[in-house]
Amino acid sequence: YKCDLCEFYVHEECISVNIPSRHKHPLKFTYHRQRDGSPWACCLCENDLDSTLFYHCLQCSFFICVFCVRKPLIFAPTKIHEHELHQLPMKLSFTCDACGLCTTNYPCICLQCCFKIHRECIFLPRVIHISRHDHRISHVFPIGHGKWTCEICYEDVNGNCGAYSCLVCSYVAHSKCVRYFRYWDKQELEGIPEKDEKEESKPFEVIDQDLIKHFSHEHNLKVSSISSLRFDEDALPCEEDKSCYACTINSELGYKCTQCDFILHDAGANLPRKKRYFLCIEKLTLFPKVQPHFMRHWKSYFSCAVCGRYCTGFMYTNSKFNFKIDVLCASISDVFKHKSHPHWLFLFIDGLTVRCEGCDLYIGYYLHCKGKDDCGGFNLCFRCATLPTLVRHKYDDHPLSLYYGEKNVNSLYCCGICEKEIYSKGWFYKCDDCGSTLHTKCVFKDLIHPRPGSSLTFSEGKIFDLLPTNRLSRPICYLCKTRCMGDVVLNYMVDKNLFKCGSCTFPET
Ligand SMILES: [Zn+2]
Ligand SMILES: [Zn+2]
Ligand SMILES: [Zn+2]
Ligand SMILES: [Zn+2]
Ligand SMILES: [Zn+2]
Ligand SMILES: [Zn+2]
Ligand SMILES: [Zn+2]
Ligand SMILES: [Zn+2]
Repeated sequence: YKCDLCEFYVHEECISVNIPSRHKHPLKFTYHRQRDGSPWACCLCENDLDSTLFYHCLQCSFFICVFCVRKPLIFAPTKIHEHELHQLPMKLSFTCDACGLCTTNYPCICLQCCFKIHRECIFLPRVIHISRHDHRISHVFPIGHGKWTCEICYEDVNGNCGAYSCLVCSYVAHSKCVRYFRYWDKQELEGIPEKDEKEESKPFEVIDQDLIKHFSHEHNLKVSSISSLRFDEDALPCEEDKSCYACTINSELGYKCTQCDFILHDAGANLPRKKRYFLCIEKLTLFPKVQPHFMRHWKSYFSCAVCGRYCTGFMYTNSKFNFKIDVLCASISDVFKHKSHPHWLFLFIDGLTVRCEGCDLYIGYYLHCKGKDDCGGFNLCFRCATLPTLVRHKYDDHPLSLYYGEKNVNSLYCCGICEKEIYSKGWFYKCDDCGSTLHTKCVFKDLIHPRPGSSLTFSEGKIFDLLPTNRLSRPICYLCKTRCMGDVVLNYMVDKNLFKCGSCTFPET
């Protein structure tokens, strides 16, 4: 058939309105989508019907693409099943043997052994790597008897059906869960030999007993017990910055440079150079210096994609430099135990925002306890999950401990820094010696621990030095025209009389 007005041709068999072998009602050949929100994918192959011609049943919501109408619905034996599979053009509720999901759609079945499977599951990849697990995982059918829990959604896995399981450890995950776009890079790895990832991740070489050469620094580092100095009452003045260059807040036992003031705490020195992270399909690389991104030309700091804090420490980033996270957030695993809660916390990405137990703010990425043993449920943001339990702040001469809220008492606390009230059921820092209390957000501003003495370069190319402030000298910010109340103030390198306060520079995210 040919249209007389335009260049439209169609086969005779394509225009036929009745395809009895595929559907019980007559089908209409159409190009036009309807506005009633019906599914716009072929019911059999689930391919999108966008801008193609397709057949549509007017009595029920059945859509079928031209290919599925023409082709026999038979699939040759694949790795997942040794016999031919036939797709039924009939909507049924069934549990797929390959993925364990019970859905209502058009099953593919084996006529010899009653095997039933989703059409899309016939071609499940055999061996893959996902960003949420360090080892390769492979599709196993059936997964076998026993109690299995999916490590991604924390729901049960049906042992009679297939699922992905780790070749090295006991990790198990649903087929549907591993295929989330942030976890899997769509690569089938069967037959591809595995690289030794240990060597490329190694952050330092041991030179001698107590002496290492870390990739991030040009001099050798020596084992030192920074913590004993820092928290010893009358040792060093707390003004002296003993925090790790990688995470910028930790000051535990670590490594100190033999020639300059470079310091790494133990966990900071051991951070792997390459790392998998649940939010990025690509492996992340550790950089000791901020890597610029074409959108944001900040040279010496970055904003963490998970917690939103600004950071001047080491960063993990992907090859495009458009996903950056600080090392504190990078160190949180998707199954996490925090001191403030008796149960394991699991990472959730469900697009919802929930209230964080620690800071009382609504957050998108969070660690979650569903409410085991009637704990009532618990959510924790990445900022709160990475707060150190003991800190030094110049407001108080003693170290301050992190308190996880006083649930049953109604005490009234005031923050020594901002002089505003503290929500006592949330988290705060408190000095055990003199009882002074501080907001966690006042101790750690949106910029995670700015190191006095360092400088920041901004997009317009201006360089500002970070100066510590004290109660006597609070310069006036040239932007908000008020006295700078934070721990540090930014001083323009070219004009030493120009100051900018932290809250104007790093707006709350
Ligand atoms: Zn119909
Ligand atoms: Zn399936
Ligand atoms: Zn079979
Ligand atoms: Zn799952
Ligand atoms: Zn050095
Ligand atoms: Zn972060
Ligand atoms: Zn929080
Ligand atoms: Zn405060």
